[in-house]
Amino acid sequence: MSVNKTHLTFDSNIGQTKPESIMNTDTICPFCCREQLEEIIAEDGPILLIKNKYPVLIDTFQTVIIETYGCDAELSTYPKEHLYKVIAFGIKKWQAMIQSGEFASVIFYKNHGPYSGGTIRHPHMQIVGLKHIDYTKNIGCESFRGIVIHEKNGVQLNLAVKPKNGFFEFNVVIDDLQYINQMADYIQIVAHYLLNNFYKGCKSYNLFFYQLEGRILVKVVPRFVTSPLFIGYSIPQVSNRAEEVVKEIQELYFAGRK
Ligand SMILES: [Zn+2]
Repeated sequence: MSVNKTHLTFDSNIGQTKPESIMNTDTICPFCCREQLEEIIAEDGPILLIKNKYPVLIDTFQTVIIETYGCDAELSTYPKEHLYKVIAFGIKKWQAMIQSGEFASVIFYKNHGPYSGGTIRHPHMQIVGLKHIDYTKNIGCESFRGIVIHEKNGVQLNLAVKPKNGFFEFNVVIDDLQYINQMADYIQIVAHYLLNNFYKGCKSYNLFFYQLEGRILVKVVPRFVTSPLFIGYSIPQVSNRAEEVVKEIQELYFAGRK
């Protein structure tokens, strides 16, 4: 298995067949029409793992987790029980794909909102097995260190001091998977903060899951238009409001609970 490739190939022919206006609420949501879904791989109540209908990435295995029945639901407001179920289901399926040994690496991520790269509103995540690319070669440990916002049961929530792409990158670092619900709580808190209390009008975020040196790490990243300094010159920027944002989250979500 060759793992030396650096670029994924996008199948523009399949890309063209994907409905453009899927974000448009006039179009019927494919994830609401469950009886029409093909190739269901696994199911746990309202949570489904399916094969992606538009596998635009060549030499990959693309799957989608449909998180809930509710088209307008959002991870940031899931009841705890459902939140834990969704995150545990995702981690389990991601780990199983890694352990299958069929892929150079497996990526697991979520898009939410217009700037996130997502095209479907209905809450979902994606697990994609990459046959020839090992993403871990692109990721250093540096961007996972940060100002600690909260820590519990060996799980840490921090704000990156040297973000990979710039501005705000929240990291959740977990040593022991028995505390996976603590990780889910931190992810939900940051998603809620971003959509409700972060500047005005942050409508988009991504979740990215990584497995590096046996450890699971998650980035929760608010999305805006990407800085030209990063696109053109690979210079990541940091905000001088970082400390302020950390304090704000502590006061809003952890006051008296530290
Ligand atoms: Zn839907």
